[in-house]
Amino acid sequence: MIENSATSPLGALRYDVAPESASLAHLRKSYGLFIDGDFTPPESHEQFETINPATGETLATVALADTADVDRAVASARRAYERVWSSTPGTERAKYLYRIARLIQERSRELAVVETLDNGKPIRESRDVDVPLAAAHFFYYAGWADKLEHAGFGAHPRPLGVAGQIIPWNFPLLMAAWKLAPALAAGNTCVLKPAETTPLSALVLAEILQQAGLPEGVVNIITGDATTGAALVEHPGVDKIAFTGSTEVGRLIQERVAATSKRLTLELGGKGANIVFEDAPIDEVIEGIIDGIFFNQGHVCCAGSRLLVQESVADEVLRRLLRRVDQLRVGDPMDKNTDVGAINSLAQLERIRELTDWGEREGATRYTSACALPDKGLWFAPTVFSDVAQSHRIAREEIFGPVLSVLTFRTPEEAVTKANNSKYGLACGVWSEKGSRTLWVAQRLRAGVIWANTYNKFDPTSPFGGVRESGFGREGGRHGLEAYLDV
Ligand code: NAD
Repeated sequence: MIENSATSPLGALRYDVAPESASLAHLRKSYGLFIDGDFTPPESHEQFETINPATGETLATVALADTADVDRAVASARRAYERVWSSTPGTERAKYLYRIARLIQERSRELAVVETLDNGKPIRESRDVDVPLAAAHFFYYAGWADKLEHAGFGAHPRPLGVAGQIIPWNFPLLMAAWKLAPALAAGNTCVLKPAETTPLSALVLAEILQQAGLPEGVVNIITGDATTGAALVEHPGVDKIAFTGSTEVGRLIQERVAATSKRLTLELGGKGANIVFEDAPIDEVIEGIIDGIFFNQGHVCCAGSRLLVQESVADEVLRRLLRRVDQLRVGDPMDKNTDVGAINSLAQLERIRELTDWGEREGATRYTSACALPDKGLWFAPTVFSDVAQSHRIAREEIFGPVLSVLTFRTPEEAVTKANNSKYGLACGVWSEKGSRTLWVAQRLRAGVIWANTYNKFDPTSPFGGVRESGFGREGGRHGLEAYLDV
């Protein structure tokens, strides 16, 4: 255990609280299922609560869709596909997508508040990353809707039909946008299932779809748990399943879909290597490492959760990194100065605790920020493990929390070997002054996304996705259209 540094260079400088107002959320007490263009009560008559992880308070109750509800949603999507959407010209589909993008911008403050209340992520991130990027995806794919024949998929690329889309809780609105925007641009209709702990921003998005005048049934949003997701995967009326979530569930889904004609794309977990060479500019590197692992509490599939530092600079990088970790402000996600918010669920917090306990048990050196944590809610202080071996669980398994494992290397060859020593292959970062070295390393890394001298940069024009147990298929960019076209 390393002792925390006693004083930060900021000394007595403290930020005053700067809370965003929760009243901007305009939440309803309870939500039905969004089917056929309207909110309807579930056939199941079952509801569940969605909780603010920072306070434990119930935000709203939402419907739990069963097989009959999934059936209604798929039937609605099929009707909309056959009667309206498949014959709606690309120029018209584009107008709806532009309208949705503009409405997301207009309601951005409300959406950011809803996302932060339901997820626990800092308002600064929902406001500056999640919501603007969600709008950007609708804008971007609006541009493609009338140009599909020029996208390199043949003269007359055709949509697949009804897409069943299942998303996780770490970027709820953004993941909905990643799924819906390309599917609609390509001419498909959708049934979207948000994660059980973060359904609210998707339900506000349903209101936005109504505001945009999107024809009934083109998008259906059904809330529920794993049973709802499984029913959607099994439904014979679905032509394509797009899943983002854990590798375990992705594997199950792949088995279920294997004997059918359904198309499948899987965006799964990761254990990203962030590789720092001795010639890299250290100030930028420290910020890149911090952003790579503590952004969104580390609940990021492509998080730079394995730091690989060249041995010659490892001591200095670690010393400066720990000093920076001590400066992270952990606490109320609604405070505009907060860097690290709440952990989304008790189950996730327990997983983080279990794996960090293993880190200590297997002999790694633990450093945990001495920050004060709020009394109520679900929290985990930023943690860095050094002296990590490749065999340790914290070096191999996805922790999905604010926990960094630090390993060292001597040569570029060793860096590549260690980075590739993972069952995952989603994202990596390379930090070096030398372009030739960066390219040499990048060509040898087995990962879908490689960042150079930056980390966690997302853009709707850029494809994103993994290899090996991080899944297959791409979202974003021109490649993202392919997942929704019969090509
Ligand atoms: P999860 O797999 O537990 O759940 C994801 C979604 O699948 C939820 O909506 C859930 O209700 C549903 N689901 C659960 N069991 C199901 C089943 N048997 N059939 C159908 N649907 C089912 O994952 P999570 O904990 O919500 O999300 C965290 C995981 O998502 C992490 O592993 C993370 O790396 C991954 N993720 C990947 C990407 C990417 O782009 N590669 C992006 C974000 C998150």
